[in-house]
Amino acid sequence: MTAHSLKTKYTLTALAFGIVFALLLAAALIYQYRGEMLRLSFASLTTLEERLEANLRENANETAVQFAERVSEPLAERDLQTVQRFAAEILDRPDVESVEVTDATGTVVFAQSDSAPLAGSAVPPAPFEISAVVHTAPDARQPNVKLGVVTLKLSRAQDAQTLANLTQDLKHTRQDSFSSLAFTALLVCLLLIFASLVVAWFMARRVERPISALIKNADRIGQGDYTRPFGVVRKDELGELQEALERMRQKLRQTTITKNYLNIVLNSMNDAVLVTSPDGTIKGVNEAARKLLGYSEEEILGKSILHVIAESEQANFAIDQAAQETRETVVTTRSGQTIPVSFSGSQITTEDPQFQGNIFVARNITDRKRAERRIRYLARYDALTKVPNRMQFQHLLQQSIARSRRQDRVTALLYIDMDRFKEVNDTFGHDSGDRVLEVLTERLTRTLPKETVLGRLAGDEFALFLEGLPTDADNRGPIAHLARQLLAEVGKAFYVETQEVFLTASVGVALCPQDAENVIDLIRNADAAMYYSKQNGGNSFAFYSPEMNAAAVERLMLKSKLRRALEREELVLVYQPKVDLKDGTIVGAEALLRWRLPGHGDIPPSQFIPLAEENNLILDIGEWVLNRVCSDYRQWQRQIANPGRVSINLSLRQLRQTTFITRFKSVFAHHEVSPTCFELEITETTLMADIKRTVKLLDELYAMGLHLSIDDFGTGYSSLSALQQFPIGTLKIDQSFVRNAAVDASDATIVKTIIDMGRSLNMEVVAEGVESEQQLTFLRAHRCSFGQGRLFGDAMTPQDLLGLLLEQRTGQKRLEKLFA
Ligand code: C2E
Ligand code: MG
Ligand code: MG
Repeated sequence: MTAHSLKTKYTLTALAFGIVFALLLAAALIYQYRGEMLRLSFASLTTLEERLEANLRENANETAVQFAERVSEPLAERDLQTVQRFAAEILDRPDVESVEVTDATGTVVFAQSDSAPLAGSAVPPAPFEISAVVHTAPDARQPNVKLGVVTLKLSRAQDAQTLANLTQDLKHTRQDSFSSLAFTALLVCLLLIFASLVVAWFMARRVERPISALIKNADRIGQGDYTRPFGVVRKDELGELQEALERMRQKLRQTTITKNYLNIVLNSMNDAVLVTSPDGTIKGVNEAARKLLGYSEEEILGKSILHVIAESEQANFAIDQAAQETRETVVTTRSGQTIPVSFSGSQITTEDPQFQGNIFVARNITDRKRAERRIRYLARYDALTKVPNRMQFQHLLQQSIARSRRQDRVTALLYIDMDRFKEVNDTFGHDSGDRVLEVLTERLTRTLPKETVLGRLAGDEFALFLEGLPTDADNRGPIAHLARQLLAEVGKAFYVETQEVFLTASVGVALCPQDAENVIDLIRNADAAMYYSKQNGGNSFAFYSPEMNAAAVERLMLKSKLRRALEREELVLVYQPKVDLKDGTIVGAEALLRWRLPGHGDIPPSQFIPLAEENNLILDIGEWVLNRVCSDYRQWQRQIANPGRVSINLSLRQLRQTTFITRFKSVFAHHEVSPTCFELEITETTLMADIKRTVKLLDELYAMGLHLSIDDFGTGYSSLSALQQFPIGTLKIDQSFVRNAAVDASDATIVKTIIDMGRSLNMEVVAEGVESEQQLTFLRAHRCSFGQGRLFGDAMTPQDLLGLLLEQRTGQKRLEKLFA
């Protein structure tokens, strides 16, 4: 029982009330008793006194009368002696104080009084005096004659004594009875107090028990245990309290169940979730967020979301904007480590201000970034020689030209091509050829000034550029010197399989801006100069001059011929089958363009598509291709219900055309084929050209039912997160990665990563350029869904493809062996 417990309080109150009540009761009793007693004793004393007085009077009267009768004879006879004797006799009575007898004449015959007063009475009370007339003895014959008078004085002392004794007795009795009354009253009071204490204790206990139970239950709820119900048994206010608490328990339990469920869901997520208020103050984090950032919950709650965003990213981080988009950013962990994340924000839409705010979901993309970097590296650097490949070299050259132009300086490009390198390959095999190229690169790099950039443009073609040469001076001298140095390095012996091999090279030089103003022209002109050196027997260098540009002449010729190619029906479409890597089923094909120029043989698209793009001819060619594909498809459909999906390559120019969508639609309608049977292949570079517009366009194409894929994936500069904006369904892994995937670890990683990425983004992945069974095994082992390449078949005529599809329909599978 605590100091302020209900029992104590109830008992103390009952005690106080009991005492007050008992005191009042006692006071009332005493008051009443005393009045009664006084009144009683007073009344009885008065009555007693009156009685005594009356007694005395009667006694005296009787005594006086008797005495008068007794003395009547002697008095009549005047026998005074007898009178005196009688008088003395009566005087002997203790109550008679004095006796006086007078005769008829009034003469005193006898008079005497007791001298000794009654002991005990300090002041003797006045005696009672009574007289009686003495008559003659009653006789009918004689008249009654007065003989005298007797006067007696009777003492009152006796009575006074009696009265005094009585008063004393009464006093004693009163005291005794008051004591016993007081005792009884005390007893009653004590009993009353005790009874009220007991009642109070029981009442307190009756209230206290359910209250303690309530407290216990409430404590349990406070500790988060909502399982035990409140037993509602009482019908009073406590019962109502129990009911109210029970309702609260059930509500809390419900909310807790929902909350716990949500917590479990949140904590099971692999992505970090941060919930903030509208101003970005962190209000909640899940397990993954704690793990990612290394903070405990207490440490991170209440901090701003900016606290976890890396300093370098903070300037670009506006909370309102971040809450509405998905972006890539960098977070800083507790230990200061920075982690790249994909960061999606969304706003919590509710009217209730206490719940308003934002949810941020962060996914660690370190691995993806690393893979992307690796892909980009491998896409830009030649795997064999580790110098920039054609793409990267062109990119760097482009930048250099721009810089030189700004600074009014000159950039010199040297194009190097090995003479008769094919022979090395043919004689010693490609591996030896590769080894030679490696050694060559090392030598060139060693010879070149540090700031020079060297790149490998194709098999045995290298190029380098020198930047920031003065405009006014003649740069030819130093460049020629360098070219000679290079030729000398090339001319040193190579050791191939213990044999000494001597090689030469041809070098062409072109200067920007003198010879060409842009990358393409500069390379072309340097190439032309190189070609010129080669024509002159090789192992030499030449500076570009316009006459050398035979290639350019050739290009011009091609360009003009291309114009007529459409009209002359020199363009041909061939189809390369696309195969399901699970079982070798042909699931579709890619339409590839060929130019059958009489006297030139087949010209590959890589040569004429860039030309067609230069003069917008690509638009007509593109439309021609689409018409051809649709009409071929219609033909196939006459014989086979589902010829699969056919993909068509699109170039940037086509996408830029404003009437592109309407043109496409009308072609499909014209041939009565469904757009869902086709797939458009777009390169990363094309996608990135004008993202906003392209997204809109592709969304429209996608809405038409067209399937969209990224061609040559891995070679471009796009970031995966940017690609996610497009409604892309398929990734086509560029053949340059597939080529060595089965033998080169880094290429294998790239291919694996792309396959995984595709799967995680729900995209189909097609491997291009599958040439060997080894590659096929590798791709199947990594669950790549589709493949295309020589192993399954080169591009073929529409009739041949139809033949294959018909065979397949009858159950014959040409590729069965490969998938056994
Ligand atoms: P692409 O779309 O990547 O086409 C795949 C290229 O790889 C084709 O070259 C194909 O013949 C070749 N190829 C297929 N299997 C193998 C293999 O096993 N090993 C090797 N080394 N190569 C293989 P092609 O036909 O010369 O086409 C070159 C590029 O020209 C195409 O690359 C595409 O970007 C473009 N192109 C082709 N047709 C068209 C077209 O109709 N319109 C547009 N705009 N571009 C086209
Ligand atoms: Mg393609
Ligand atoms: Mg491709």
